[in-house]
Amino acid sequence: MENDPSAPAGPSPRIAAVIVAAGRGTRVGPGAPKQWRPLAGRRVADWTLDAFRNHPRVERIVLVHHAEDLDELRDMEDILLTPGGATRDASVACGLAALASDPPDIVLIHDVARPLVTPDTIDRVIDALTHAPGAAPALTVTDALWRGDNGRVAGTQDRSGLFRAQTPQGFHFEAIRAAHAAQPGGAADDVEVARSAGLDVTIVAGDERNMKITGPEDFARAEQYLRGRMDIRTGIGYDVHAFEEGEACILCGVAVPHDKKLKGHSDADVGMHALTDAIYGALAEGDIGRHFPPSDMQWKGAESHIFLRHAIDLARTKGYELANCDVVLICERPKIGPHAAAMQSALAEIMGVEADRVSVKATTSEQLGFTGREEGIASQAIATLIRT
Ligand code: MG
Repeated sequence: MENDPSAPAGPSPRIAAVIVAAGRGTRVGPGAPKQWRPLAGRRVADWTLDAFRNHPRVERIVLVHHAEDLDELRDMEDILLTPGGATRDASVACGLAALASDPPDIVLIHDVARPLVTPDTIDRVIDALTHAPGAAPALTVTDALWRGDNGRVAGTQDRSGLFRAQTPQGFHFEAIRAAHAAQPGGAADDVEVARSAGLDVTIVAGDERNMKITGPEDFARAEQYLRGRMDIRTGIGYDVHAFEEGEACILCGVAVPHDKKLKGHSDADVGMHALTDAIYGALAEGDIGRHFPPSDMQWKGAESHIFLRHAIDLARTKGYELANCDVVLICERPKIGPHAAAMQSALAEIMGVEADRVSVKATTSEQLGFTGREEGIASQAIATLIRT
């Protein structure tokens, strides 16, 4: 994220995802392959694709499909579609080939049957690739392991050092492409392909929810997770700035001519500050002061869209989208009404949302209190975020 001081320096890598969906999924029983079956109101593949579509660092997505599944590929204009091969290895190689004319730096290879992958897991894989040519999520084995024979325990298996592998498995693009080209076939997954080519693969923390849908009982479990994930959050923000000598007030991104300006460390955009704090509040992420300390001189005179953009980016990184927001400016003058539509468009553009999700309105305080005496402007905002 561009304003996150903890983010690694240098240009961000170009990242593509290859979703492997060419399998027939026969273990779920007769009917459509599992990736095209319904799960919590949509198809399994739709949930999986959205996990990558909604991830801010993933630029392009390739869906490797079965040649017979053309009817399933509607509403996928934003996805690169390519038919797969006879085996999983061959299908991944088809997905990589589809990216080769404009190669990304990093490719994330993911099973379509893992629709519950979270943005955090994807981030952990991407971050580990700064230091390693390959990275993949896995869970430690915590249950005891037995060997069985005819329904009886025949021995115990040491579980130390054992992991349950998940996807996405991430690699430097050219390295994994070369590894696939050299692979004779039959690998269990892309980590095995990478390792057989001598690439180091780092293990990052997996997620228990990132389950692979294999049998019919997995649909019920995945559905339960998805329903539990629906998460609606509301945050509130309040801000005040005093007037000083000047010619215009910056309010919700619009310079409104006035015989005074607002005083503050940044551009003193009181409305945008209240809205930014509302978004941070919905995320339980403190306020502007926490992310942009006033003691830090680099934010002196800063344009407030930097703060708002940071808050909305943080929301998206955490898997939320703005449902709507409502900003109230409280002042006697300047008159807000003639500028409200421009403010609405400015805020919508900064946040990358439709204008009808943004409301800006104003009230006076009937000449009472500090706003009534025209000593400054106050603003209140509320924002609702929904988990995507
Ligand atoms: Mg402020």
